[in-house]
Amino acid sequence: MFLNPLSTFSLRSSLRFRLPRAFSTTRRVSKAKTLPSADASRPFVKIVEVGPRDGLQNEKTLIPAAVKISLINQLTDAGLPVVEATSFVSPKWVPQMGDAKQVMAGITRSPNVSYPVLTPNTKGLEAAIAAGAEEVAIFGAASESFSQKNINCSIAESIQEQAGLRVRGYVSCVVGCPYEGKIDPQAVADVAGRLAALGCYEISLGDTIGVGRPSEIRAMIEAVSKTVPVEKLAIHCHDTYGQALANIYASLEAGIRVVDSSVAGLGGCPYAKGATGNVATEDVLAGIGQWISNELGRPTGSRVGRALLAKK
Ligand SMILES: [Zn+2]
Repeated sequence: MFLNPLSTFSLRSSLRFRLPRAFSTTRRVSKAKTLPSADASRPFVKIVEVGPRDGLQNEKTLIPAAVKISLINQLTDAGLPVVEATSFVSPKWVPQMGDAKQVMAGITRSPNVSYPVLTPNTKGLEAAIAAGAEEVAIFGAASESFSQKNINCSIAESIQEQAGLRVRGYVSCVVGCPYEGKIDPQAVADVAGRLAALGCYEISLGDTIGVGRPSEIRAMIEAVSKTVPVEKLAIHCHDTYGQALANIYASLEAGIRVVDSSVAGLGGCPYAKGATGNVATEDVLAGIGQWISNELGRPTGSRVGRALLAKK
C-alpha cells in the first residue's frame, strides 16, 4: 500500500543521483587532509533498504510471510539495489523473523539486487547459507553493555571459511548508547576495524537510538575513516529526534556514499524507550532529490518529494 508511490517515484533514477559540486574535493580543501576523498570517483549514493528486516523485526504482531515476500518483491521492483531481507535469528529471541527460510524461498530474486540477511551466530549463518543467502550481515557494538564488544569468534571463523559469501558489518550505537551515554569515536573505529579485518566489504555505522547530531556524526566518521576507508562505510540513522536527514547530510559531506533507510520509516529500538524508526527511504530520496534540485535551481520533479516538502 505504501509502495505504489515509491514505484511512481522511480527509485531507480533517484538512486543514481549525481552529487552536486558542493561535495567535490575542491570545495573541501580544509577537510582533505583528514578525510579520504571519494567525491570525484564516487558521485552516486547507494540506498540500502532495511525495512523488511530492521523495520519489521520490531513489529509485535506476527506478519505473514506472504506480506514480507510481497514487500521485498515490490522494493526490488522499485529499483532498490540492496534489500535486507530477513534475519536468521532464533525465533525465541525474535519471533517475527521465525519465517526467514520461507521468506528467502518465496522472494523473486533479481540478479541485480543483493539480499543480505542478518546472521547473529554460526547457527544462523549456516541456516542462511542453506536458504541460499549470498550475502550476510553481522553485528558489532561500540558499547560494551549494549551487546558484546568482541565479535563472536566462532562466527568470525565460519565466515572466513565461506568463500564467496559477501559479508556486511553493522556497528550499532555509534554515537550514543541507552546504557553508557556518549560513545567514544575511537571505540567505533576499533569495532569497525575488526569487522573490516574479518572481510566485511562494507560497514554500516548505526545511530541505533537516533541521538546523534551532525557534528558528532561527522567527528565519528572522521575517526572511523582513519581505520577503515570511507569508501567502505555506510550510515544508518534513526530519526528519534528528527536529526536523521541532517546526520545523513553530514555523512555525505564526510565522504559517505551508502545510506541505510527503511520504507515508511519502519523500525525502532526495543532497548531504548522512545527511540523511533529508521529514517524513511522516501524521506532520504526526497531529501537528496530536493537537494540536487536546489543545486540545479529548479523544483523537484518527484511527486513524493513535493508532497513531503509541502508537509514541512
Ligand atoms: Zn535501524
